[in-house]
Amino acid sequence: MEIDRDSGLLRGVRYVPSPHQDDRPEGTDVDLVVVHGISLPPGDFGGPWIERLFLGRLPAEEHPYFATIRELRVSTHVLIRRSGALVQYVPFHRRAWHAGTSSWEGRQRCNDYSVGVELEGTDDLPYEGAQYRALADVVAALAAVRPAITPDRVVGHSDVAPKRKTDPGPLFDWDRLRDLLPHEVSPPPRLSRFRDSRPPSP
Ligand SMILES: [Zn+2]
Repeated sequence: MEIDRDSGLLRGVRYVPSPHQDDRPEGTDVDLVVVHGISLPPGDFGGPWIERLFLGRLPAEEHPYFATIRELRVSTHVLIRRSGALVQYVPFHRRAWHAGTSSWEGRQRCNDYSVGVELEGTDDLPYEGAQYRALADVVAALAAVRPAITPDRVVGHSDVAPKRKTDPGPLFDWDRLRDLLPHEVSPPPRLSRFRDSRPPSP
C-alpha cells in the first residue's frame, strides 16, 4: 500500500471527500495515528450510516440514536470495514475531525498533528484479522512518507481522550497490531552533516 504524496491519498483506495476537514496548522509535523472504533447504530455493521455521518448526511429520523448525534461534525482520514476494505475521507495532509478534545504526551488538540483511522466495530467485540492487517498496511504506508510515525506513535482514542472515550475498546489487541508493524525505520543517511563538519577552532 502506498500514499500518493501530491494528493495525500492511498493509491487504489476509494476516496469520498468529507466536508468535515480543514488545513492543519502551518508547519505541523504529523507524527501520531489515533485508532478508533465506530458502528452506526452502535453494534450494527455493514450499513451506509458511518459514511453518511462522515459526509454530514446522517438522517436524524432514521434511528433514535442518530437524533442524539445530529449536531456532530466529524470525519476520519480512513475507515476500515469489518472485511478490511478501506475508504478514505480526508487527505493525510489535511486535518480530519476525529479526536475532539484530546491530548497526548502533554500536546493538546491531537487532530492538528494526527491521522485518524476508524475501525468498524464496538468496544465489546474483537476486531477482525483483516482489519488489523489493513491498519498495519496504512501505518506502514504513513511511516514510509512520515518517518516520525513509529509503532509507539499509534494510540487509541481512549488514550488521547481518556475521560470521554473508550474506543477502540479493551478487546483491541495492541500486541497483535505491533507484531504486524515494521519495527525498524532506518533514518535517512545524513552525509551532509559530516561534510559540513569543520575542525574545532583553536
Ligand atoms: Zn473515537
